[in-house]
This record gives sequence, C-alpha cells and structure tokens, in this order.
Amino acid sequence: MLTAFISHPDCLRHETGPGHPESAARLHAIEDRLIEVQLYYLLRHLDAGEATREQLLRVHDAVYLDELDAHPVAGGLRYLDPDTAIGPHSLRAARRAAGALVTAVDHVVMQEDVNSAFCAVRPPGHHARRRQAMGFCIYNNIAVGVAHALEAHGLERVAILDFDVHHGNGTEEIFADDPRVMICSTFQHPFYPDFPFEENGSRILCAPLPAGAGSSEFHTAVETKFLPALEQFRPQMVFISAGFDAHRDDVMSAINLTEADYARVTRQLVELAHKYAHSRIVSTLEGGYELRSLARSVEAHIRALMELH
Ligand SMILES: [Zn+2]
Repeated sequence: MLTAFISHPDCLRHETGPGHPESAARLHAIEDRLIEVQLYYLLRHLDAGEATREQLLRVHDAVYLDELDAHPVAGGLRYLDPDTAIGPHSLRAARRAAGALVTAVDHVVMQEDVNSAFCAVRPPGHHARRRQAMGFCIYNNIAVGVAHALEAHGLERVAILDFDVHHGNGTEEIFADDPRVMICSTFQHPFYPDFPFEENGSRILCAPLPAGAGSSEFHTAVETKFLPALEQFRPQMVFISAGFDAHRDDVMSAINLTEADYARVTRQLVELAHKYAHSRIVSTLEGGYELRSLARSVEAHIRALMELH
C-alpha cells in the first residue's frame, strides 16, 4: 500500500501579496525537499480535483459561497480580512485545496489504492468559518474532506487531530454539533485567533499550550488526553490538520517543536488508524512558514505516514 501526495499547480497561483508568509514558496520548498531526499519518487502523485459547490455547501453557507463568486478579482488583490487576500486565481486554488481532501478521501476509502494521503495545498483551511474567510483560509479544506467521508461514503465516526500552532476555530465551529466527528487540537494560547474555545465532553478536546512550551507539554497532551479518548471513540478514519508553525524555527509562534515531535505524533495516529480505521489516514497542510523547517517537518511527517503499511 502506498501514500499519496496530492497537489495541483493551481495552488501555486494563489497570490497573497509581497512579503506575505503564506506564499507559493512553501509548496516549492516541500517538493524540493522530498525530491532531494528521494522520498518524492516513493509517493503516489495525484492531482487534486476541484471541490464542487455541493461539496463546499456541506460545510459553508450558500450566502458565503455566492458572495465570493459574485466578486471575481480581475487584477490586484481583494482582502477578505486583514490577513486574507485573494487574487484572480485564488478561488480556483481554494477549490483545489478543498478538492484535494475529496480526492484523498475517495482514494483512501473507495478506490483503496492508497491508505494514506498528504495534501500539499494552499490556501490552508482550518480558520475558515461557515460564512467567513479568516487567517489565510478561504474554504475549510479538512472539513470538506471530513464531510465527504461522512456524507458520500457513509462513515459514522471520524477523528481530526489539529497540531497547527493556531486554534482550528473554523473546523471546531463547523462540527460543533456533529456527534460523528471528534476533534483534538493543540495550539498556543493565548494567541491568534483568540476565539473562545469550547471543549465538548469527550468529543472536542483542546490542549492550549503556553508560549515557550515544547515537546514534553505537546506529547503529554497528546498521550494522556487525546489518545485515550481517541481509543474510546474508535474512529473509522483519521484526519490531520498538519500545520508545522509550532516548530521551534518558525517565527510565527513561540512553541518549540521539532521534526521528531511531528514524526512521533504522526506514528501514533498511524497506529490508531491501523487499529480501528483500516489504516485510513488523510493529512493536509495548514500552516508552517519557515521554509526549511517546514520542508523537513513535512518529510518527517510523510515518512511516518508510510510506516506500518
Ligand atoms: Zn497556523
């Protein structure tokens, strides 16, 4: 069995403005690293499809989709919030980013030609709310993938682990009332986006980390809080919101993780998926802005996804 690497050249054409940390250079850095270490050739490369309106409507309000479609950007940039710009090609990139998750789910659940997938896409997604773009995110990519697994493939229990350094407020809002979805999230706190986070019994679990925290705080949260709850939930599929901006080299945050930490948590999730979910695991890129640590971390993450197959 193989791990898929899902991307699309359209994701490179999303412009965010000069000096913006969320740039196409991120995807180039990842691909260059995977080629350099010869991991690239061991992956099954798939083009991300474009998410359809029906697939986006599972997690976004029609009024939000209509508003985006009604104001195409002919040139220059339009700001959806102070951090989130869109250019002429951005909505197509966003549909590819969300569509990558649909492609991943279809291959992992239905075609079964791969059992894990990493989506190297941008814009990221986990801040996007039902009717609001936020924090570099336009559509909530992972939510579109999870909803596809639930609605199109009839899964009944799906888990998301979000280890991006920022709280995945959009994902949490979208699935707040859906008992089929369990969300475990680590993030620096207090920090952007400064939304109140709400734990929901044993189904929405948060581990806020103070500035300066590192490997031991992170693994303690994952291993004493998340993994026992995930074992009880017995997910039929595992999703990862894989942001690498909690890396110690990433200037975006004050959390000090390393590649080894990403490898360890990924291995634990692969084991969980192996035990309960027919090894089905889909990961998608969220943040990660220091290009070298981002590239090394994605490499470590993908190597761990490929284990145990
Ligand atoms: Zn982030």
